[in-house]
Amino acid sequence: MPISPERIVGADLMDIHDKVVAGTRLSFEDGLRLFKSPNLTAVGYLANIDRERRHGGRTYYVRNQHINYTNICNKFCKFCSFYAKKGGPAPYEMSLDEVKRRLEWHKDVPLTEIHMVGGINPRLPYQYYLDLVRLVKDSRPGVHVKAFTAVEIVEIARQGKVTIEQALADLIEAGLDSLPGGGIEVLSDRVHEELFGRKLRGEEWKMVARAAAQLGLKQYATMLYGHIETLEERVDHLIQLRELQDETGHFLTFTPLSFHPEGTELEHIEHATADDDLRTIAVSRLMLDNFEHIKSFWIMNTVPVTQAAIWYGADDVDGTVHEYEITYKDDDFGNKSQALTRDNMIRMIEEVGRIAVERDSLYNEIVRDDEPVPEPKMTALPMAKV
Ligand code: SF4
Repeated sequence: MPISPERIVGADLMDIHDKVVAGTRLSFEDGLRLFKSPNLTAVGYLANIDRERRHGGRTYYVRNQHINYTNICNKFCKFCSFYAKKGGPAPYEMSLDEVKRRLEWHKDVPLTEIHMVGGINPRLPYQYYLDLVRLVKDSRPGVHVKAFTAVEIVEIARQGKVTIEQALADLIEAGLDSLPGGGIEVLSDRVHEELFGRKLRGEEWKMVARAAAQLGLKQYATMLYGHIETLEERVDHLIQLRELQDETGHFLTFTPLSFHPEGTELEHIEHATADDDLRTIAVSRLMLDNFEHIKSFWIMNTVPVTQAAIWYGADDVDGTVHEYEITYKDDDFGNKSQALTRDNMIRMIEEVGRIAVERDSLYNEIVRDDEPVPEPKMTALPMAKV
């Protein structure tokens, strides 16, 4: 005999269950109740209804390389461990030759996306950014270039003494395909003031997003959570993004980013729990009814939590991620690289009963005749360090 939804979600969430089943937009109060509900499993069950209605068991991954071209930054965000500072990471800025060398490291891997972000480094001129994008396109023809947060776009325009629109147009002409989102963390003036006062305010971030949409650029969106923000501010962030998406329709994916306090000015804050990571994925899926994709970024959430997250609303796990330097360090520049192979990605997804689908940056499925899908093995996968 089937179990009734009320047995699963409990009487107190049945009104939200009925809205989810009917496809009715959830309110601010609904979002807050989902964050506060003691029944995490119920919240995940509700998110999974929406997730499976959109994607069934399909779970997307991409083969990508990250290039963090400089860690010199004049914004000094309190939550950031990436930028160069006394007692922290040594400063670096990559020459174009260095970027080319890094692209060549993986030239035999059929990557489809190069993801580039960096600090706000006032020494880099306008032309550097245009040449950077052109270099990637020339070195890896056909690859999708996802680059520059809104904060970087404002700095690039400032360097070139041009408008935001002109900077974006020049970058598109050089080969830019999309903006990765990020840069706003939480759309709250209070959090902005306390943690990242030198960066853009929410309205400025939205202005860049609108300009990108008008020029036809796709964009992704994020939320950094688990620091000083309140649950109300999280829900408000989601609703502001939902309203912006109603207006522009240009966002592809939303990624909640779990805050890692190590090496930041907020080291006293405890790392988010797995409950919080899963719940934030689930509430994001339920609130963002006009976002097609919700991502669990395995580097931030760890592989085991991501394996659970794809039953809690996420349909995307990001990618193979060659060289991600934002949270961990240890290479030529003192940075530690992290990567999962394609086989690892497939195993991560299939071990928990989902269907692995390789995608490009725009969610077109990639079928590779020359690379048979490996048999999943039930052995432990490497865990991201936390
Ligand atoms: S988060 Fe970005 S803008 Fe802020 S300090 Fe770090 S690199 Fe700079």
